[in-house]
Amino acid sequence: MLNTSYSIFHIPYSTFSQKYPCTYSIVGCLRDLSPRYWLIACTILLAGHALVIHELVRVGDGKTHVYILDVDQGDSIFIVSPTGKQILVDGGPNLTALEHLGRLMPALDRSLDLVVLTHPDLDHLVAIPEVVERYRIGGIVLTGIAVSNPRYQRLLTEIEERHIPVLLADPRADIDLGDGVLLDTVWPEAGLLGRTVKAPNDTSVVMRLFTGSQSILLTGDIEKDAEEDILRSGVDIRSTILKVAHHGSKTSSSTGFLLAVNPDRAVISVGRDNSFGHPHPSVLERYRHFGIPVETTVEEGTIEIEMNPAGSPKTQSPNKAQKQNPNAQDSNYSHIWALGFVFWVFRMIYPSPSS
Ligand SMILES: [Zn+2]
Repeated sequence: MLNTSYSIFHIPYSTFSQKYPCTYSIVGCLRDLSPRYWLIACTILLAGHALVIHELVRVGDGKTHVYILDVDQGDSIFIVSPTGKQILVDGGPNLTALEHLGRLMPALDRSLDLVVLTHPDLDHLVAIPEVVERYRIGGIVLTGIAVSNPRYQRLLTEIEERHIPVLLADPRADIDLGDGVLLDTVWPEAGLLGRTVKAPNDTSVVMRLFTGSQSILLTGDIEKDAEEDILRSGVDIRSTILKVAHHGSKTSSSTGFLLAVNPDRAVISVGRDNSFGHPHPSVLERYRHFGIPVETTVEEGTIEIEMNPAGSPKTQSPNKAQKQNPNAQDSNYSHIWALGFVFWVFRMIYPSPSS
């Protein structure tokens, strides 16, 4: 038994222990292992490798996951397509979005397929330059409006230096994510490049994410004027879920817009005790009047919306449900495997009397 472990290393043990006293005890332990424990050690090593490979090659689980991230008073939304394409819409008012990405993305993944900045107000912008610095970005959607904000200028510099493809928001150009998932640009009208605008909120990129018969309308911070313009354009905005515009401000969610979207449920990204008084009680009352349930990040934390092409969307809070993984179905199976593995190790160490 001892000779077997000794021959694996091909090292004169006494010489090794004198030259490398720090590793002496480790090698000593391995040297004295019985074949049964060698088997257990090898299995643990293999399981470790399997976990690393799982993290490296993790792909989508066949469903679309939309995470309304809890970033306090602002917007940041992370989307994972059925085959694992990853999109970040807005970066929130602080760097919390980076923490969420670290938790939701595979451990070794440092790339995003697409970033969308709905408009350059700070409560949507702050983490975006950091994300562009730290991740490989496949492309970024902007409106192109002229803004002197230093953080936005830094973002433009990063985009140029890193040669990131820029897609100017255009309702005539939808983005096909594959797997039957479409990012339909609804607003603003094209032609904003280099223009100074009075109301940046009303130039927010509005997108409808389709998967099968389900959709979620992402509205940035549009207000009543933009809502009316969208209605006048005649574009189809019916959606099963509505990300409420402008954090539930009383200047948005006009009655006509709500009737046109006709959502089954609505979600609001908002911070606690914010100075703007979002969401406004009159807006919440309007949603109640139309029988549309509303969830807010301030109450639920990050809200995950799971969109199954063949069924109804499920909305849940990962914070409450302890479900913080975009590939949770895989993880559930991993837990079963892990339990089986622990049981097997237990039986190896403590075999049943009959064995
Ligand atoms: Zn905002």
